[in-house]
Amino acid sequence: MIKAASFKGQDVAVFGLGRTGLTAAKSLAAGGARVHAWDDREEAREQARTEGVSLTDLTTSDWHDYAALVLSPGVPHKLPKPHWTAQRAEAADVPVICDIEIFARELNARAKGNRPKLIAITGTNGKSTTTALTTHVLAECDRAVQMGGNIGRGVLDLDRMHAGMVYVLELSSYQLERCPSLRADVAVFLNLSPDHLDRHGDLKGYEAAKRNIFNNQTAQDTAIIGVDNPEGRRLCTAMTARNGRSVIPISGQKTLGRGACVIKGKLYCAQERTVSEVADLTRAKALEGKHNWQNAAAAYAAVSALGISPEKIGKAILSFPGLAHRMETIGSVGRLRYVNDSKATNADAAQQALASYKNIYWIAGGVAKEGGIEPLTDLFGNITKSYLIGEAAKPFAKTLKTHKVDCKISGTLEAAILCATKDALASNKTDAIILLSPACASFDQFKNFEVRGDAFRGKAKEIIAIFEREVASNKARKNKSAANSGAAA
Ligand code: ADP
Repeated sequence: MIKAASFKGQDVAVFGLGRTGLTAAKSLAAGGARVHAWDDREEAREQARTEGVSLTDLTTSDWHDYAALVLSPGVPHKLPKPHWTAQRAEAADVPVICDIEIFARELNARAKGNRPKLIAITGTNGKSTTTALTTHVLAECDRAVQMGGNIGRGVLDLDRMHAGMVYVLELSSYQLERCPSLRADVAVFLNLSPDHLDRHGDLKGYEAAKRNIFNNQTAQDTAIIGVDNPEGRRLCTAMTARNGRSVIPISGQKTLGRGACVIKGKLYCAQERTVSEVADLTRAKALEGKHNWQNAAAAYAAVSALGISPEKIGKAILSFPGLAHRMETIGSVGRLRYVNDSKATNADAAQQALASYKNIYWIAGGVAKEGGIEPLTDLFGNITKSYLIGEAAKPFAKTLKTHKVDCKISGTLEAAILCATKDALASNKTDAIILLSPACASFDQFKNFEVRGDAFRGKAKEIIAIFEREVASNKARKNKSAANSGAAA
């Protein structure tokens, strides 16, 4: 845990006592702050008591005493409606921050030669993959590295700071709204498409929150910007004209005269009129698809900004094992492959997997987002047959039938995977993919996308094991009869 000394001797309100809130409270207390923690839920308060966090009823306390309100990122402080703690904070002129702000203050308080490096990563899609890939590459290049923020551990739960450490943080727009002191040595902005508009008002508000990732950067720092969409291109031009920091464009699909880009699966680095190949991403099993090529270009540029050689980075990228639930290959039965993309909870995300494969036996459905699967119609040609589950099964079947895609309402994930396996094996097409990429939220049938993906993985592994046993016993039978006929001869 990082001891947060930046509020030493001060009173700090902490609201929202999930894992991150509890860690923030403990970190502040360890650094000498007087913590006033609270949550609307009694179970959360009970847990805090058990863990020795000191509680104050913030509904009745005097807010003028507080130096800051550490508010859980999931709790709104402006839109759609400010939470009551945010209203109290505003009335008493108390800044609303999150744990990332505390981390940033600790980092900034360190002497120049003693400051760890910070790589901060945001974007609408690809944050987790890029963060995990960047961390993997740094670890493979023998750098001391810690990963956290919106992925894995809360930021204050990470190992203590020292000069040689690199922190790689995934940051959401919610977190970026509440960390005015953030100064990243390397800030990555992957892409932008409409999301969380209820919290940010409109696309402009959402983009403004994401752009905070570049706050306080100096001429020594690096900004990495995905230019595969118009927002990124605009941002890249605007940033290049400002303050002397190094601005590196990246692309997963088009040639760039400067920056890092991927053409036909090859990752290139272009600088000072020379272009060199860094890695052949078609050999990276966990980085299939152009979207992942964008993530790889971003990770390359981020690590390269710390002075690590392209050869080392390229080699490390190829051994990335991938993240669960994001186009995760589970295994194969002959030339039939099972892919778990349960994280694709909307059509935008499912689009990436549907674009990456052909001959897909597509399992989709759950709780649909506005627009359903209409945005995917251009990719329906890659689908051989679809198996529909959950609430969205009927409306999705209607869309698929309109576009003449063969489909079946399976109802449950288990029925879908069994039926898809049977159909795929019966077909004589090669290289089939059984793909769970639901384009839907999971909560009609599962607690969350992880539980849904785990269920898919479990069933796929069962099926694969049955086939492997069958293959092994056929082989044993053959060997036995060969031995018998040898003996008879
Ligand atoms: P995030 O953390 O931003 O949600 P993930 O890395 O977890 O992103 O990926 C979630 C899904 O988003 C993936 O399954 C894939 O469908 C899609 N995705 C990943 N990277 C990108 C990208 N660079 N551009 C567009 N979509 C992407």
